[in-house]
Amino acid sequence: MGHEKKQPSRRLVRNLAWMILVVGGWGVVGAGCSGNPVLGAMESDANGYICSACGERFFTARNVFAECCPKCRQPNLVELVGYTCPGDDTLTIALRGAGSVACLQCRAALSGFKLPLAEEFKAWGAIERTPAEVLFQAP
Ligand SMILES: [Zn+2]
Ligand SMILES: [Zn+2]
Repeated sequence: MGHEKKQPSRRLVRNLAWMILVVGGWGVVGAGCSGNPVLGAMESDANGYICSACGERFFTARNVFAECCPKCRQPNLVELVGYTCPGDDTLTIALRGAGSVACLQCRAALSGFKLPLAEEFKAWGAIERTPAEVLFQAP
C-alpha cells in the first residue's frame, strides 16, 4: 500500500522540476533577445536617402541599400547623414559629403557626423520604404 502511494507523488515532483526548468530556460532566452542594444555614432537601424531628381526623402531598414527613388525610379540617390550640435543637441540631417553643415537651431558650423536612426529620419519627414519600392529587382 505504502509503496503504491509514493510512486505518483515522486513522478509529480519530477514533472514539476522539468516544468520549472523549461519555463525558466525560456525566460532567460527571452530576456537575452529583448535587450535593446545601444547604438554608437556610426551605427544606425536605417539608411536614409534623398532623391536628387525629385527631392523625395525616404529611409530603409539597415540591411536594405536603395538603388532607386521609390517615387520617380531614378537612381540618383544621395545618402543622408546627421550632425549633432554640441551646443544644443539638435540633430541636423544633411547630404553625405555636403561640406560644411550649419545647425538648424543655432546656425553653428557642425562637424563629426552620426548616422540618424529610423525615428530621427521619420521626425525629419522621411518615409520608410520597403525593398520592393527602392530596388530595381525586388528580392
Ligand atoms: Zn525621385
Ligand atoms: Zn546648434
